[in-house]
Amino acid sequence: MVERPTSLAHHVIISAATTGSWPTKAQNPALPVTEEEIATAALGCRAAGAAIVHIHVRDDQGQVTCDPSRYARIRELVKATGSDVILNMSTGGGAGQTTDEERMAPVALGPEIASFDCGSVNFGDRVFINSPTFLRDLATRMTRHGVRPEIECFEAGHVQNALRLIEDGLLSPPFWFQFVLGVRGGAPATVKQLLHLVEMLPDGAQWSVCGIGRGQLPMGVAAVAMGGHVRTGLEDNLYYRKGELARSNEQLVARIVRIAEEAGRPVATPAEARLLLGLPPRS
Ligand code: ZN
Repeated sequence: MVERPTSLAHHVIISAATTGSWPTKAQNPALPVTEEEIATAALGCRAAGAAIVHIHVRDDQGQVTCDPSRYARIRELVKATGSDVILNMSTGGGAGQTTDEERMAPVALGPEIASFDCGSVNFGDRVFINSPTFLRDLATRMTRHGVRPEIECFEAGHVQNALRLIEDGLLSPPFWFQFVLGVRGGAPATVKQLLHLVEMLPDGAQWSVCGIGRGQLPMGVAAVAMGGHVRTGLEDNLYYRKGELARSNEQLVARIVRIAEEAGRPVATPAEARLLLGLPPRS
């Protein structure tokens, strides 16, 4: 069993998912889509309290792409400022828009964390396919490049897939799970679902949750209360409250920071998050 360092037992890791594959500037003009905008958002979210920034990249038309050079550019821009923020590169691509091979390409950059979507699911009107072959291949490549998988689970079957990959030695501890709840096709964003998923986890696993749309805030509050970690950001929800668009990713991060602090949960710095997740200290 992996124990959390005692002094960090109550810390909460906040991840900011700034962009995603599908949201558009037409839906919320604050959405960062160029490499410069995404790097600026990452730094802003770090300043607001996020330890991890989960990024996607877009092409010049604002459409989803997995182009590793764009990921590398964002990392370069962030690193050039001396920022210690942890970057989590998406391997999600766009359902049906990108090939498995394209999706795995950013792993070769050796990011500290990359997303690992641990099973297939209907996703709105699309189907998000993560076949067993793809998952085994992705896990192997992540191990080879020293990348920590963020094991994204959209429903309980995905946790079961993770347990099988762990049993087969393809995923190794310490484990970092992200529950993505409230996707149309996945498990709903309810406390009951969250509790069920958390109870399935291997001992010592760290977990975070993001709720989609109106599920974002309640899931964040639930995770703070339950001792989990929180993901927020415009990828998951474009609104601050019903009928009011969020002004920025930073605004959403700042709200969770206030809630965590009121609840007596210190917000983890990137260095503390690295300790909690067993990542090597920043070189
Ligand atoms: Zn994502």
